[in-house]
Amino acid sequence: MAVCKFDVIQPASVEAAIKTLAEFGPKAQVIAGGTDLLRDIRLGLKQPELVVSLDKVEQLRGIQANDGGIDIGPLTTMAELAVDDCVRQTIPALADAAAWMGSPQVRNRATFGGNLCNARPCADSAPPAIVCNAILSLTGPRGIRKVAAGEFMTAPGKTVKLADEILTNIRFPKLPPFTGSAFKTVTNRKAVEITITSASARITLESKDGRIADARVCLGSVAPTPIRARACEKSLIGQSPDESTFKSAAQAASGDCKPIDDLRSSAIYRSWMVEVLVERALTTALARTKRGAA
Ligand SMILES: Cc1cc2nc3c(=O)[nH]c(=O)nc-3n(C[C@H](O)[C@H](O)[C@H](O)COP(=O)(O)OP(=O)(O)OC[C@H]3O[C@@H](n4cnc5c(N)ncnc54)[C@H](O)[C@@H]3O)c2cc1C
Repeated sequence: MAVCKFDVIQPASVEAAIKTLAEFGPKAQVIAGGTDLLRDIRLGLKQPELVVSLDKVEQLRGIQANDGGIDIGPLTTMAELAVDDCVRQTIPALADAAAWMGSPQVRNRATFGGNLCNARPCADSAPPAIVCNAILSLTGPRGIRKVAAGEFMTAPGKTVKLADEILTNIRFPKLPPFTGSAFKTVTNRKAVEITITSASARITLESKDGRIADARVCLGSVAPTPIRARACEKSLIGQSPDESTFKSAAQAASGDCKPIDDLRSSAIYRSWMVEVLVERALTTALARTKRGAA
C-alpha cells in the first residue's frame, strides 16, 4: 500500500500547535514519538495531510514534583518514566509499566501522552494512571479542561479529546500515607509484545499495619478500554491486607472483566490471568505501602 503524502510542521508553542489544529481540523494529526502514528500511516489507517510535531514544544516535557503530587509532561518518554526517582517512589505502578513496555528503542521514543491518546485497550500506562487518580489537561482554542484518566478513553482508539485539543499535562495528585501501587502484565513473549492482559492496583492502609482504607484496581486488554474492577475494589475495603483477602479480590476481578478471543489469547485465558495478575499486583502494592508513601 502506498503511504499517503503529508507535510510536517514543528510549532514551538502549544498555542501555535492548537491554532494549526483548529485551522486544518481532522486533516491534521499530532505526532509525539511517532511509534503508533507512523505505523498507522504506513498501514493506511490514518491519512493526514499535515502532521503537527510537538517535538519543539519544550513546555510539554519533564517530570516535576508539585504540592505533594507530580506533574508529567506528555512528551516524557517511557524510558524517562521508568528511571525517574520521584515516579518510582510515589507512583511505582507507572514506573513498572514504563519499564516493561516495548524495547529500549521503543521506550526511548514512545511518550506517555502518545500511549494515552492512542487509546488502545492494551495501553500499558493507562491502568497505573487510572488507579493513581491522574488528571489529564486538554488544551484547545476554548482553554484548558481537566479530565480524570478513568474517563479519558471511550472505545478502542477513541478518547474525549477533540481534534483541536492537545494533551498538555498529566497530574498525579498527592496520595495518602501507607499507599502502595503496582502494575503486572502477561504477554506471549518476554519483550516487544502486546499485552495479553494487565492489572494495576493501588491500596491505602489505615495505618502501617492497619486494614485497607482505600483500593483501586484497573485491568487492561479485557474490555474495549482499560476498566476499573469495581467488585474487586469493594471486596478489599475494610479488610485485613492478607493472602486470603487478595485471593477473593482477585476472583472478584475476573468477574469484573469482559475479555474477547483474539489472535493473542482466548477470553478464558485472559480471565484466568486477571486473577493471577490482580493477586500479584495487590501483593506488590502492599509491600510498597510499608514505605509510608505510594
Ligand atoms: C515495536 C513496538 C512495541 C510496542 N510495545 C508496546 C507495549 O509494550 N505497550 C504499550 O502500551 N504500547 C506499546 N507500543 C505502542 C507505542 O509505542 C505506545 O503507545 C507509545 O507510548 C505511543 O507514544 P508516541 O509518542 O510514539 O505516540 P505517537 O505515535 O506520536 O501518537 C500516538 C497518537 O496519540 C496522539 N498524540 C500523541 N501525543 C499527543 C498529545 N500530547 N496530545 C494529543 N494527541 C497526542 C497522536 O496524534 C496519535 O494519534 C509499541 C509500539 C511498537 C512500535
